[in-house]
Amino acid sequence: MKDLRLWGLKKSPWVYHVAAASCNNCDIEILELLTPRYDVERFGVVLVGSPRHADALLVTGVINRKSLPRVLEVYEQTPKPCLVIAIGTCACNCHIFRNSYNAVGPYDKHIPVHAYIPGCPPKPEAMIMGVVKALSKL
Ligand code: SF4
Repeated sequence: MKDLRLWGLKKSPWVYHVAAASCNNCDIEILELLTPRYDVERFGVVLVGSPRHADALLVTGVINRKSLPRVLEVYEQTPKPCLVIAIGTCACNCHIFRNSYNAVGPYDKHIPVHAYIPGCPPKPEAMIMGVVKALSKL
């Protein structure tokens, strides 16, 4: 059963988008992946509406004190193994908000992160490459 789930995860990863406290440019670039220009659904990548259905989390922005409990709750709700892919420099290392009084660190301080895609915002091609690399680690 576990092998079957891994096979499905690699062939058609369902992703859930988590925006902790981003400026929304990274989020807009994620949505760009679904437009006809990139159309990641043709590769089986589907954006789902619940973390309970997610094989991977695409996380953006900086985690702050308000968003940390929500991020942890979302991660706990995902079936494991669940890949976490940090999109954008904010998600990777807090970017310019590193010394902010309200930032509580990058994602990998709180949940396991399997791929980092830096950029402000990163290009959609880089995001596709990051998802492929994260899947290849399974
Ligand atoms: S990495 Fe840049 S584009 Fe992405 S959320 Fe941070 S400031 Fe915005």
